[in-house]
Amino acid sequence: MKKMNLLTQILVAFILAIIVGVLVGPSVEIVKPLGDLFLRLIKFIIVPLVLASLVVGVAGTGDIKRIGRMGGITFVYYMFTTALAVTIGLILGNLFAPGKGIDIPASTEKVEAAESPNIIDTLLNIVPTNPIQALVEGNMLQIIFFAIFLGLAITMLGDRAKTLYNFFDELAEVMYKITAIVMKFAPIGVFGLIAPVVGKYGLSVLLPLLKVILVVYIGCILHALLTYGISVKAFANMSPLKFFKGIAPASLVSFSTSSSAGTLPITIKSAEENLGVSRKVSSFVLPLGATINMDGTALYQGVCALFVAQFFGIDLSFTQQLTIVLTATLASIGTAGVPGAGLIMLTMVITSVGLPLEGIALIAGIDRILDMIRTSVNVTGDASAAVVVNAIEEKRDVKLSQGVSA
Ligand code: ASP
Repeated sequence: MKKMNLLTQILVAFILAIIVGVLVGPSVEIVKPLGDLFLRLIKFIIVPLVLASLVVGVAGTGDIKRIGRMGGITFVYYMFTTALAVTIGLILGNLFAPGKGIDIPASTEKVEAAESPNIIDTLLNIVPTNPIQALVEGNMLQIIFFAIFLGLAITMLGDRAKTLYNFFDELAEVMYKITAIVMKFAPIGVFGLIAPVVGKYGLSVLLPLLKVILVVYIGCILHALLTYGISVKAFANMSPLKFFKGIAPASLVSFSTSSSAGTLPITIKSAEENLGVSRKVSSFVLPLGATINMDGTALYQGVCALFVAQFFGIDLSFTQQLTIVLTATLASIGTAGVPGAGLIMLTMVITSVGLPLEGIALIAGIDRILDMIRTSVNVTGDASAAVVVNAIEEKRDVKLSQGVSA
């Protein structure tokens, strides 16, 4: 019999997990350690992988201008697509009014609002005072900063830092190899992650909030198909089908783990091997995206803010909805790529337009279900940026080489 490829294996595991979860119910929890083990295995790759591959990526170019340009394009793409995602969320939320006609009592539980971060401090905090601590804590932006500097200095020193360059080059290769080994375990891991979620949530929990679940899912799928489909076609002339198929391992794993940071090694691997993104681009764009680019989260925050307003019978003006676009875009940047972080940042969005925070408690009960799809979109969005930036860089390189040879 022909061996199934990895993507098919993951899909089969996914479907099996849903069937087993439905049939067995909450006691399927017993398989959870398999999921947790998989998650730990990918997580331990992240810090050395990002550090080593970004150092090599930067040292390979040694061109600070290129990094600046790449950073600029990536940032604009991330912000624009995120704002678009919230807008899609708000349009669907207005159209389908998921918060109207719900008959569950509002909770009286007190919810604390997350503090909105101080912009200056957030920016300053990108510079680590102790890079080793940044590595130990897995602070991604600080690691990116440190890696860029290391890469640049290694290039400037040339032969004198050759050993260090080779060290990072080999470390990166070794970490890629480990990713490939761990990936073989993905189908079992996905099974171990999905089955307990399916087993835990009964219809009685999901049904009253089915409308909000549907609106978030439809919004996320629409955003992915339209925004990313069109972007990869327009900028990279890549067929959307090839894009979605190529990134599918990462989309499925992030759906199961609800963590874009945790999925990073698989996102990098899929982008490079299946979508032809160069290591220079993937090692920079993807870790940055896993940290600041959260389109699915922003879309969900837009829908949920409207949901809360509708539930309490509060009308939001056009200006208030614009405020939501702005705060949800900012809140999503501040959202960590870990499970449930988007719910905490939702408090910021809700307070920005003066809605009652008690509304959050309604969503909290089903948040994991929403987290899965939003994380999957977060990760798919990062990969679309990698494809776009890669195409722009390639075109520039071709132009430059033609200019040189002319
Ligand atoms: N779980 C999401 C992620 O890792 C963040 C969120 O909770 O919205 O991308």
